[in-house]
Amino acid sequence: MYDVIIIGAGPAGSTLARLIGKRYRVLLVDKGMVLPKNGKAPAAKCCGGLLAPDAQRMLARMELGLPRDILSGPQLFAVRTIDLLNRIERYYQRSYLNIDRGKFDQWLASLLPPDVELRQTCFFRGFAEDEQGLRVHLSQDGSIHEEYTSLLIGADGAFSLVRKQAFPQMPAPRQYIAIQEWFKSERPLPYFTAIFDPEVTDFYSWLIPKDDKMIVGSALRTGETATANFELLKSKLREYGFDLTHSIEKSGAMLMRPVKMSQVLTGQGRVALIGEAGGWISPSSAEGISYGFRSALALADALMSGLEGFQKRYLRRTRRLRSNIRLKNLKAPFMYNRILRRIVMTSGIHSIDVSSP
Ligand SMILES: Cc1cc2nc3c(=O)[nH]c(=O)nc-3n(C[C@H](O)[C@H](O)[C@H](O)COP(=O)(O)OP(=O)(O)OC[C@H]3O[C@@H](n4cnc5c(N)ncnc54)[C@H](O)[C@@H]3O)c2cc1C
Repeated sequence: MYDVIIIGAGPAGSTLARLIGKRYRVLLVDKGMVLPKNGKAPAAKCCGGLLAPDAQRMLARMELGLPRDILSGPQLFAVRTIDLLNRIERYYQRSYLNIDRGKFDQWLASLLPPDVELRQTCFFRGFAEDEQGLRVHLSQDGSIHEEYTSLLIGADGAFSLVRKQAFPQMPAPRQYIAIQEWFKSERPLPYFTAIFDPEVTDFYSWLIPKDDKMIVGSALRTGETATANFELLKSKLREYGFDLTHSIEKSGAMLMRPVKMSQVLTGQGRVALIGEAGGWISPSSAEGISYGFRSALALADALMSGLEGFQKRYLRRTRRLRSNIRLKNLKAPFMYNRILRRIVMTSGIHSIDVSSP
């Protein structure tokens, strides 16, 4: 019998397990490899690998310093914003830590206290509730087994099975498929580029330098048009002057966009959600790492005084995070409405001048 079973060892799940691992008997389960095994490194999550200022602030609050080998280059201090349709571009000052996402997740998992039991390549399949607690069905190496727990945490990301099974009636955030293609790059761009073009997506696309490579990514509405729209984006970028000649690899992942607060869930009864599984992600920039940290920290705080009444405490402790998402949704039209964006970008408000020799 475990006190807590956490499904998903991404930033949210690993952080919660680290924070409550000494207080509770915790089982942390992930369907993938989390730590290197037999000389093989785990596959990295499809991600831009940028730690925004909010994520940096959370690292500071958790008293964590980033090991040097997690960094990729170059470190970025500006966002170049391109409105492809209106043909306007602007630069804004913003500091990002440019990281190797695979190494980052491994590092977070390496901080788990020895008390936490980590089961890698183990799938969560479902759960059932009885008087004693929750019976959680897990499968590993072709066999299915059950574990008992008092509390089940869904930290299983955008495609959360815990959320689907526990709260099937609750509205889900708007779903996107994010596609990223890596290209060889001779000269890394010294900024993060955000691209807006409603012909490609109603969200946004990006270019991120990663050492001697460059990631071209886009958050696209799910459905048949996603691949075609990604190809359209690349052809528009080539026409704009970007060198996308040597493709190296391509991957994709689901992405949530909570456009209404009813789509953000903390949980109920014996099941709670953290990270993207709960809808904790920025609806304006798709920045999700800091939200994973913040929701995990809020739940850990709520659990510190025991299991009794923790849901209410977790809900209370996420009040500011919910306001943050509400605010980002209010800000979104200035980024995503074509006319408002043109007005903001033409005005040059908050932008910086850049000069290169
Ligand atoms: C293309 C792309 C680019 C992004 N770029 C950035 C960025 O640059 N900066 C940023 O801050 N955010 C970015 N995000 C968002 C960010 O990656 C996520 O919001 C963040 O990873 C969420 O953390 P999490 O711990 O909630 O979930 P995840 O990191 O998704 O981790 C979930 C874990 O659950 C496991 N899991 C899932 N289902 C099961 C199951 N049934 N059984 C067992 N285990 C399971 C998975 O293997 C995974 O390890 C990006 C997202 C995408 C898709």
